[in-house]
Amino acid sequence: MEIRLASGLQPDSIVDGEGIRTVIWTQGCSHNCPGCHNPGTHDFKGGFTVSTAEVMNELAGLKGQQGITFSGGDPLFQPEACLEIAKFAQKQGLDVWCYTGFTFETLLKSEKCVQFLKYVDVLVDGPFIIAEKSLNVDFRGSRNQRIIDVPASLARKQVVLIPKYVGEREVRVNIVKPKHIYV
Ligand code: SF4
Repeated sequence: MEIRLASGLQPDSIVDGEGIRTVIWTQGCSHNCPGCHNPGTHDFKGGFTVSTAEVMNELAGLKGQQGITFSGGDPLFQPEACLEIAKFAQKQGLDVWCYTGFTFETLLKSEKCVQFLKYVDVLVDGPFIIAEKSLNVDFRGSRNQRIIDVPASLARKQVVLIPKYVGEREVRVNIVKPKHIYV
């Protein structure tokens, strides 16, 4: 099977989910979120295609990675190819995060997407909304996006959020009092 990617695999990321991760940048997205940071990944004919076998081979050769992260673009436009890679990654002991502009509830209406979600540990869902943009939310761009525990959500048939990522981080400003004031 083939997958359309925007670029080569990116190992050693520390900003696309917990721990050290390899990012798989998929090509193709039609959500058109105003302010999208990655417009070059929208064209469904852009990027390049590669076999899922090649991607898995490359993943097998990487060291020191906690997991993989599907990003893009929107990986959920290619659920079958992502499913193959996610299954392989979990067999290798890697955890799987995925970003999507769809909501979890919308994905549940597609059997292909549900099959893929069975091999996803964490889903960051929803479009990027510029009015909700925040630099104080972990691993996402806007407050509306949710960091979802996928196995628990599938089991309960409703969204279960990962508690430590709910809401915005507290912003702390450390005011250091000088010990001595020289005049
Ligand atoms: S879903 Fe992601 S890649 Fe697609 S338009 Fe929105 S921000 Fe951009």
